[in-house]
Amino acid sequence: MTEEKKVCSYCGGPFGLTRHYVSFRHHLCSEKCKQQFLEARARDFAEYRQWCGRVSRPDRN
Ligand SMILES: [Zn+2]
Repeated sequence: MTEEKKVCSYCGGPFGLTRHYVSFRHHLCSEKCKQQFLEARARDFAEYRQWCGRVSRPDRN
């Protein structure tokens, strides 16, 4: 459970001198990667919610 991240969660590159954290699970190599990662995640989340709204029908288990 305490897996140490060795590469950036966004670009997959190695870390430099600084790391940027998004929660405990995602480490980004730069502020730029962090912003892009957050944008991509927000987009995914919006699509996921849209998808959920479309398919979630509580009448079937
Ligand atoms: Zn990166």
